[in-house]
Amino acid sequence: MSTRPPIRSREERLAAGESAVIARRERASVKQALAQGEIGIFDVINDGRESIQRMRVSELLDSAPGIGARRTFTIMAKAGISDTRRIGGLGIHQLRKLRNEMILNKVPINEGALIVMSGPGGVGKSTITSHLRNHPSVWISVSATTRDPRDNERDGYDYHFVTDEKFDQLISKNEFLEWAEFAGARYGTIRNSVEDARKLGKHVVLEIEIAGARQIRKVEPSALLVFIAPPSWDHLVERLTARGTDSPERRAARLALAEEEMACASEFDEVLINHQVEEVAAALLSLATSRKK
Ligand code: 5GP
Repeated sequence: MSTRPPIRSREERLAAGESAVIARRERASVKQALAQGEIGIFDVINDGRESIQRMRVSELLDSAPGIGARRTFTIMAKAGISDTRRIGGLGIHQLRKLRNEMILNKVPINEGALIVMSGPGGVGKSTITSHLRNHPSVWISVSATTRDPRDNERDGYDYHFVTDEKFDQLISKNEFLEWAEFAGARYGTIRNSVEDARKLGKHVVLEIEIAGARQIRKVEPSALLVFIAPPSWDHLVERLTARGTDSPERRAARLALAEEEMACASEFDEVLINHQVEEVAAALLSLATSRKK
């Protein structure tokens, strides 16, 4: 467009100056928290704020307690990361190399939390998941299943859709952290990808049914089990019966199953009532942040 009134550009200059000050402050407070051991290196890497993403990787390592300039140099060189690389410019392979070099150099790694989210069908778990999906510190586990994909589902994103034979193979190779049968199909959580994401400091969310949650409790006692409950039973009935495509028998079966699922709430560490999706997503994140070690 044409020239702008001078007052505007002055405001803009002021605003830019202000945001630079805010960015410096954000970086300083993150570095301080890192130096004091309140947060770990991967917490900083997973901090989505632009000011943090623009920080150099070398500056980050150098700010962590006990690394020092020499080890920073070695780790960066071995991981193949240039001195000018910023956090936001790190690709997944470089992140993995960085993590491996950190482990070799005995730099403590902060793992992400494992959060299991269960609850009755129709309670809104998948909407909560999609709210969390884009958060930089969260990784949503992609399960394998033997059921057919629905119209709007993508292989490798919603699920890994596999044959019965492939599922059997995955079981025999011990590749599942847990698996269960549900409504005539099998579903399982892939162990390696969960471990990999946690070692990159990501909080891993498993959206699974209750038998699977019980297995996780046994194999990963540090996991946090969260039950998502509806604001009321009537609310859930309304949600479940709103899908007009179901036959009366199918609807009755869904309701009976939901009733059974609701009865398991007390087995979980936390119960969150889904009044508002944004609130539940924020509560899950804050539980994850306080959980991990
Ligand atoms: P749907 O077929 O509607 O996607 O999922 C059916 C049920 O299977 C849901 O309760 C969902 O949370 C659960 N589920 C999805 N993935 C897994 C998994 O990997 N393990 C277990 N145990 N349940 C899963």
